[in-house]
Amino acid sequence: MLQNAFFTPVDEIIAQLDSDLEQGLAKEGIPERLKKYGPNQIPEEGSKKRWAIFLEQLLDPIIYILFAAAILAFIFSDKLESAAIFFVILISVTIGYFMELKAVRSLEALVKMGQTSTHVIRSGQRTHIKAAEIVLGDIIVLSPGDVVPADARLIHVDNLLVKESVLTGESFSVAKVTEPLPMNTPITDQINMVFRGTVVSSGFGKAIVTASGKHSQLGNIQQMGVDADKERTPLEKKLNRLSNWLIGLTLGIAGLIIVLGYFRGNDLFFMIETGVALAVAAIPEGLPIVATIALARGMIRLSKKQVIIKKMEAVQTLGATDIIFTDKTGTLTEDRMVVSAVIFDETYLDNLYQKEKSYYTSLKDKPVFDKMMMAGILCNNVDPTAINEQDDSIEVALIQFAIHLGYDPKIVKQNNLEILELPFDSALKLMATAHKKQGGYTVYAKGAYESLVDHCDFDVYGLGMSISEHKLLWNKKVDTLASQGLRTLAFAYKEEVELPTRANILNGLTFLGVIGFLDPARQDVKAVMDIYKKAGIKVIMVTGDHPGTSKKIAQDVGILEVDAIADKIRHGKDLKRIMEGADGNDLSLLKASVFARVGPEQKLNLISYYQRHGHIVGMIGDGINDVPALKKADIGVAMGVRGAEAAREVADVILKNDKFTAMELGIRQGRVIFQNIRQFVVYLLSCNLAEILTVGFAALLNLPAPLLPLQILFLNLVTDIFPALALGFGKGEKDIMEQPPQNPKGPILDQNDWISVVMYGLSISIAVLGIVAYADRILKFSAETINNMAFYTLVFAQLLNVFNIARHRGAFFVNEITTNVWVWGAILLSLLLTLGANLSTHLAAAFSLRMLSMEQLGYSVLFALGAMVLAQLFKRARI
Ligand code: ATP
Repeated sequence: MLQNAFFTPVDEIIAQLDSDLEQGLAKEGIPERLKKYGPNQIPEEGSKKRWAIFLEQLLDPIIYILFAAAILAFIFSDKLESAAIFFVILISVTIGYFMELKAVRSLEALVKMGQTSTHVIRSGQRTHIKAAEIVLGDIIVLSPGDVVPADARLIHVDNLLVKESVLTGESFSVAKVTEPLPMNTPITDQINMVFRGTVVSSGFGKAIVTASGKHSQLGNIQQMGVDADKERTPLEKKLNRLSNWLIGLTLGIAGLIIVLGYFRGNDLFFMIETGVALAVAAIPEGLPIVATIALARGMIRLSKKQVIIKKMEAVQTLGATDIIFTDKTGTLTEDRMVVSAVIFDETYLDNLYQKEKSYYTSLKDKPVFDKMMMAGILCNNVDPTAINEQDDSIEVALIQFAIHLGYDPKIVKQNNLEILELPFDSALKLMATAHKKQGGYTVYAKGAYESLVDHCDFDVYGLGMSISEHKLLWNKKVDTLASQGLRTLAFAYKEEVELPTRANILNGLTFLGVIGFLDPARQDVKAVMDIYKKAGIKVIMVTGDHPGTSKKIAQDVGILEVDAIADKIRHGKDLKRIMEGADGNDLSLLKASVFARVGPEQKLNLISYYQRHGHIVGMIGDGINDVPALKKADIGVAMGVRGAEAAREVADVILKNDKFTAMELGIRQGRVIFQNIRQFVVYLLSCNLAEILTVGFAALLNLPAPLLPLQILFLNLVTDIFPALALGFGKGEKDIMEQPPQNPKGPILDQNDWISVVMYGLSISIAVLGIVAYADRILKFSAETINNMAFYTLVFAQLLNVFNIARHRGAFFVNEITTNVWVWGAILLSLLLTLGANLSTHLAAAFSLRMLSMEQLGYSVLFALGAMVLAQLFKRARI
């Protein structure tokens, strides 16, 4: 990093960092600099090492128990058994390792996808790069809404205002300069610097990077808290809680079985071993990792559809979302703004975009119209020579209209140098600029009609009407434009001898007229609205725009019915009174579908209001004014192309293709994942319960031991884990978007799920105990044969159990489980592994397996099918 950059003159900094003011750094030199300074990340940690992931697998209580069992077996029992337990440990660790590796790598890939990006000048070209690739000496370009990627010294500013609340806690914006500052200027006063993590609220700037990554001011602050434990997702916490609860329960049951078995005359070591195997069997240690993999997979699937989930827990919250707040421009509309109507004097021009060029020639000669065009060009931050995607579309439309009319915006700007700017502010809803002219200054202003009109008089028209009569007249005109869905903007100007100040720039303006912009509703939105309706999700428009415009667009996209009643559309000015006033408990706001003329703070209050009333709120926004609301919402969704960098930074989800419809994919996937997780938890627990019940009842009923400890271990590694994983990969029920949203605060398994766990577990253990009793009492087979028949029955019954997991009372043959190819793959793999264990003489001996006759295997298949039929009967008999 470069020390005291605020004090050093720019030329010196450029020289010291071997950069170039115009050309920036040369692209070829970047890799070397990256190596030298490290990536622009906090902390600068690389990806997780493989050996660390492997070691983590060994640091697991289950593995400790297995190690203890292996050593005990080595001392008290035969060596083969001890070796077999070590083999089991190896398999378990290997599976755990690969699953964890997959999860970790997927997460790392996702983190990379969600990284912020930034504009730099390299080799003379303006390029868009990942913020992490910034190096010392880079020349960065700053525009409104950008998040500053690294600490940098300003070399050019154009009305640059930066919000530094991350560093200073102050919410106002700081005006920036380029001149060097005295040596001991405190950081809060270093106004010729921009700092990592701060946000450009308006204006433009160029700066040279002087400190990146952990050397930046924000890096210093964050470094202090870096060792704090990474926060677990709520889902992980829930799964861990469930696991811990089950561990306690299982240990209790295992202890009971050991004691019971011992008093019934069984060998103590054998009983301890059975207890250990049962404990290992029943503890669903695979749960969190299978859940992580399912989540990561869902996230990757979504990323392929242009939906980037930045935080894992967001997937689950997406599934639970029941309210979506959305802004209007660009999200519900095309954001292809064109000037459609102009009203000035008594003139009303409409459908302008359809008119021939000749239509316009006379317009330029009308002084009021000409003034409006000057305001449109000058009170405008778009660079006419370099219009880009990030530019404000309303301002772009004004420039394009002016060019179409024969104005040259570049020349107009050159001839009317800007002296002062009151930047556009979403709360004020207007903007003004002052320009030098001969003998004085001209101020141009544009903004929402209701905001601008309060600063205006109307003497330009000289119609002899009072101000209030004028206002009434213009109100009607604006309403007419708005009712057609046009976005309206009012214009005003004044001429002054003295240089205006920020405080008086809006005083005594002269009203000029109004322009209506056409921004058609997006065609694809309406279809999604229908899906949302069925899914129990309400979409609400929150916009800074005029109520009339908002209403028309809301009707066009299906948010509002055409004959919507008045309380469906609310005006920003009523909100404060209702939310904070005496009638704070007024629930009528919950009925509204459109909130018009709301500012950023009101958006925030609305979200809190809905959250207070028990809703899970998703918010789609893209402007810098949406940032607080995006943060506050349960799910913040930002647009990938149009969105301000700051909006993308705080969002949980980024829609890379800027399509409102993509959000539906996210919600669908969120629901699917949560359902998958519930399904494999039910599956794993019912399989585990089957084992516990089988061994427990056999001990109680004095039946021959149906399962040996090592067989239980084998079952858990083979029969449980693969189908569970396959369930985690499921595509979900077809009608998942016709079900109500999930309750994110509820437990993972509800009462019905627990009943399923018990029913399926019971069915399997009845079948296994049945075959043991039948083979023992009727067929009079040997103890080894009975044990093997019980083992295979359990293997088959557990594999078939996966088909019980499909939805309650759904179709049996065609459902989300039978159509999941992963499930079939998992069953095949499990069968092959069981066969493999049987074919290897050593393994077969260790697991006490032998070749059964076809008849004996047939009995196992039959009893296993019986278990499934029983489970299905239980399932379908339920109300
Ligand atoms: P939307 O939901 O349509 O995206 P928003 O909530 O982002 O709208 P703002 O962009 O804050 O709303 O705009 C609110 C109002 O401010 C607009 O209706 C318009 O009248 C005015 N306005 C918008 N952009 C500008 C601008 N660049 N200069 C001056 N006034 C503007």
